[in-house]
Amino acid sequence: MHIVFGMVADGFAYPDFPGDGPGCLNGCIVGPLGFLEILETKLGLGGPPVTPVVRITAWQKKLQEAGKTGKRFWAASLAADPFSTARLILSWRDALVEGGWRPGVLANAPARLSDLAAAEAAGSPMPSGRADRLRAVIARLEAGDKAGIDRLETVEASDELPPGWLRLTELLSAGGTDVRQKVVQAPVEASSDLGRLHVFLKQGTRAELDGDDTVVEMEASTELSAAESVAEWIASDTEAGVGKTLVIAQTGSTALLDLALARLGQPVLGVSAASPFRGALQVLTLAFATVWKPFDAERFLDLLTLPNPPVRWAPGQFLARAVSRQPGIDGPEWKRAWENIEKWVLAETEDDKRKATKLLGELRAWSDVARFEHTMPAIDAKGITDRVRTWANTMAGAERDPLLMCVVGAAKALSEALTKLDETPVSRRQIEQMIDSAIAEGLGNPAHKPEASHLRAVSHPGAICGPVRRVVWWNFAGHEPASPPFPWYRVELEALESAGCCPEKPSNAARRMTAYWSNAALAASHGILLVRPAVIAGTEAGSHPFSHLLAPLFEEGGKRERITIRAEDVHERETIPVAARTITRRQDVAKSLPEARESWPLPAIADILAEKVESPTSLETLATCHLKWLLSHVADLGAGRIRSIPDANRLFGNIAHAIAQEVFVPGPVASGSQAKKLAEQIFDRVVQQIAAPLLKPGGAGDLAFARERIPRALGTLAELLTTDGWEIVGTEMEVTHDFGNGLKVKGYTDLRVRHPVHETGVIDLKWSRRDKRRRDEVKKGRAVQISTYGHAVEPGKSLPAAYFMLAQGSMLAEQASPLAKDPVKADRNLKDTWDAVVGMHRSWSDLAASGTAAASGIKGAPLPPGLVMVPPKTPCEYCEYGSLCRIQQAN
Ligand code: SF4
Repeated sequence: MHIVFGMVADGFAYPDFPGDGPGCLNGCIVGPLGFLEILETKLGLGGPPVTPVVRITAWQKKLQEAGKTGKRFWAASLAADPFSTARLILSWRDALVEGGWRPGVLANAPARLSDLAAAEAAGSPMPSGRADRLRAVIARLEAGDKAGIDRLETVEASDELPPGWLRLTELLSAGGTDVRQKVVQAPVEASSDLGRLHVFLKQGTRAELDGDDTVVEMEASTELSAAESVAEWIASDTEAGVGKTLVIAQTGSTALLDLALARLGQPVLGVSAASPFRGALQVLTLAFATVWKPFDAERFLDLLTLPNPPVRWAPGQFLARAVSRQPGIDGPEWKRAWENIEKWVLAETEDDKRKATKLLGELRAWSDVARFEHTMPAIDAKGITDRVRTWANTMAGAERDPLLMCVVGAAKALSEALTKLDETPVSRRQIEQMIDSAIAEGLGNPAHKPEASHLRAVSHPGAICGPVRRVVWWNFAGHEPASPPFPWYRVELEALESAGCCPEKPSNAARRMTAYWSNAALAASHGILLVRPAVIAGTEAGSHPFSHLLAPLFEEGGKRERITIRAEDVHERETIPVAARTITRRQDVAKSLPEARESWPLPAIADILAEKVESPTSLETLATCHLKWLLSHVADLGAGRIRSIPDANRLFGNIAHAIAQEVFVPGPVASGSQAKKLAEQIFDRVVQQIAAPLLKPGGAGDLAFARERIPRALGTLAELLTTDGWEIVGTEMEVTHDFGNGLKVKGYTDLRVRHPVHETGVIDLKWSRRDKRRRDEVKKGRAVQISTYGHAVEPGKSLPAAYFMLAQGSMLAEQASPLAKDPVKADRNLKDTWDAVVGMHRSWSDLAASGTAAASGIKGAPLPPGLVMVPPKTPCEYCEYGSLCRIQQAN
């Protein structure tokens, strides 16, 4: 068997197989995990792989056990943050094991090493990790077993291998395997720039570069611009079929470059970075996030709106609508959602009671569950992981969807980790850390796959295991992740070395990394293109450390510009030579953007308009812009926004309305202090039911504000009403009336009141940071909403109506109104305002029926003759249809 081994060659590596032929039998290129699997198979070792989260919790348990028999160096840290402490000390332990440490091998060991030995001996045996597996293989080889490998080529020189892996190669060599370093370097033309680069890297000798296109630095303002230019360069390949071009995806992803390649019809590279944030992988996190107190409506909505949610579409929509309107548990919308779900379940199961109960139980398990404060019994935590696992397994289907199988693996690992922890209850922090660890490795994009071509990609320069014609170092910028600090003191190192244990020193790891960079340049036989965007993923990217090593050569003779091009130049010129290829681009025909239109032709909609029932809000929209009213209230064309949780201001308004319904019951009005007290008493319950986001730690300020302001505002309103002798008729009462001439109205009054002299009055509750807008409406005779209510509640009468501004505690009404506590001198009274609304409705409806829509915010928009309520000067401030009427192009 012929193996090529590199310390970072697991996953994408180049070439595809050992040797120079068109294929290979009984050979492969592997990294540490692949190599261990082969050796374990040959030696009869191995077992199911153990995930990091299981090992960390097992180690945490062992640290705790060891702590019972003595004072250990980790005691304080372990008490403060058990999981993080266990993870850190486990990484030390694994590095020692890989270097050859065995507990008990040191007599009179320094304190920390002796504590580690105590942990190793405490409790159950430690589940094997990579280091343990390596040592098990080494032990078998030391015992004289044969691995049956004929030839082993290592990418790293022997003095660059970590001690454990060096020992492995020595044992294989001693056992008859032909072990040698793999030749990665390519032969080059000595007189070329690439030849000079090779000489510089091998001997340190500098010679001025000619700019012969064999060494090129491409600078780009952004990653996007770099992707466009590199894709053009790849598409301009005139050497197709002659050798390979290898792309080093420095950030572990070629997603952006692949988009540009696909746009040009080129095969893609298909390297995607593993991420724990891919759709289904979030189910585990979200399933736990929604069972803590306070209820996290935002995360619950995230769970329901995942691309592949665990709750079926219809019930998921009922719940999503409920929490996006009233984020909380057991509020009116929540209860309505469950009523709808129960009806849906019965229809879905065709009234089969047994099936219905089962389905309802499954739906409730994801949403209507017991909620925990700071800890959770282990049995409940396991119940959630089992539910996630069962769901993912079912959804994965026969195709074994890789993303869902990854969820199955993570849920299984979490369940095993909870067993290893053997602790109940489990703290929220511990569970969250365990989940993060279980999904930390994440998964690449399963849909992003490489396509067959002469292009190859690796995600690390160390994965280059042989010569290649051209190298493109994509995203040649930014820093390599810093290696963790070396934790051992000199006395500990001396003790370890005396026992033959040599944990790898950071300087050795750094030397190996530098060798990878040099290898990447030395592997190129015809050219290297270093692509350096100034900004990657929106973040300024510094220089790559290898570029500092190359700087003396590139700067030699002050001629760096000879090898440097700008990616943006490729976009600006018709023909440009880049790295031994000529990129040719053709100018496309310029297309102008669509222009704004002040009027639009309409189809025949007279029938629709005749059936239309207006609301006070739709009439207010009509008074603002004819086109906006048509789009929003006639065509019912929503913006299709993603469901979201209301902001704090809307939550304040919702809370105030909900509390008002309980405080203002029909009959005499409670005194101001009684109303305020009652509002305070029910405030917390209402917040839990419909405004749970305020209960989150970040909502403390808003919650305190609402707790103080809302009861006070309702107390003020009660005081105003009692002082003037008003009584409550009711809250949230429906009002509906057909006024004739095509105007039908339906709505709900927030608060209806009655007075022995003034009879019925209507109050609309509003929460707004400032009351200027509503005050101006009353002043200018444009208070469409309250004038509509004032004339629809008791048709034929013009009832007094007012806005009560909750945040300001002021009752806004025209000067003569009996409800006016903050009287506003109005240009047009409420009766005349209503007449204007009726006239406006008729005029705009006629215009629409005649086949014209007017975009009132655009200069020159048509106005119906005799319009009594003209649109305001700035109607577009809060409009979401600007991209349809193209208002931006008009200004
Ligand atoms: S942006 Fe202005 S003009 Fe356009 S639809 Fe909206 S309100 Fe009317």
